[in-house]
Amino acid sequence: MSALEAHLVRQIGAGGPISVADYMATCLMHPEMGYYATRDPLGGAGDFTTAPEMTQMFGELLGLALAQSWLDQGAPAPFALAELGPGRGTLMADALRATASVPGFHDAMRLYLVEGSPTLRQMQESTLARGDVTWHGDAADLPDLPLFLLANEFFDALPIRQFERADEGWRERVVGLKDGALRLGLSEPLASPRLTHRLEDTRTGDIVEICPAGERAAGEIGARIAERGGAALIVDYGDWRSLGDTLQAVRGHAPADPLTTPGLADLTAHVDFEALARAAPCRHSRLTAQGVFLERLGIAARAQALARRLEGPALETHVAAYRRLTHPQEMGTLFKVIAFTPEGAAPPPGLDP
Ligand code: SAH
Repeated sequence: MSALEAHLVRQIGAGGPISVADYMATCLMHPEMGYYATRDPLGGAGDFTTAPEMTQMFGELLGLALAQSWLDQGAPAPFALAELGPGRGTLMADALRATASVPGFHDAMRLYLVEGSPTLRQMQESTLARGDVTWHGDAADLPDLPLFLLANEFFDALPIRQFERADEGWRERVVGLKDGALRLGLSEPLASPRLTHRLEDTRTGDIVEICPAGERAAGEIGARIAERGGAALIVDYGDWRSLGDTLQAVRGHAPADPLTTPGLADLTAHVDFEALARAAPCRHSRLTAQGVFLERLGIAARAQALARRLEGPALETHVAAYRRLTHPQEMGTLFKVIAFTPEGAAPPPGLDP
């Protein structure tokens, strides 16, 4: 039994079952034993890989799309260029390199990274290698400035609560103990007014998920964008509305049981983009498939230009990454993009109002 599993067994033994959200939060961000707090999970040697780790094109195109929104909104100065959950800092590094040629953009920007993991903060510091970055642990601490923000695979890592529809209300899925081991169970029926809008599209036995931390972060970002201007580009897997149990664990690039390896596997859930859009007090674009978005931004031309300088295995890797990001049977359709913008502003390029 891992140290974190022993810790959870003791905690639940003493205090009773905990919500799936509390379980996820402990597994991912416990300061000494949490998954993100203690390791770099990304890349071939890690547990999973992400778009910016596959190709520089992802960060370049997202950075340029944000810079276009900044120009469209009259190039406000100063402004905050921010990222939620920057991982190794690769996406931001690629975005900064691509936007260096946008006149005035770097002069006007202040850089903010929202990161909960001390290990990953250190990696971001060495990847970016610049002295002007401010780190925060929470989106609520972002400054009161026009906000241009990126978030890739951040919201899927935030703790979700799960509810199962019962004949008489909703029961919450909880993590309890059976014979000394972690086991999923159900709470007594709850009155859950937050779920009344889901009575239309669910039946007894269905599971719905909510992500309070994600809604809070979307609210913080949306409030700044509504008041000060800016744009947020949010990329993740999920859909307009979530239905069913989407909690999943990944370890060493393979699926795992979310309950058997606490702290040793990545835990994620699909993002409910409707819930984020409802929580953000600003406008949002139409939810768009990542493949469509990247093609509209010109990824094919960029891929060809880069391919001219490559050969052998490097060329093969490059072509595979392009395919993986855009192809409908790979990440092109599962991953979606939404933008938040202020009233009266056009969405970033590649997205529809
Ligand atoms: N965006 C990066 C990394 C995705 S992994 C990429 O695309 O490669 C998720 C990131 O979110 C990690 O940096 C993780 O440490 C961070 N994170 C997860 N939960 C967080 C939380 N509650 N608060 C702040 N950062 C969090």
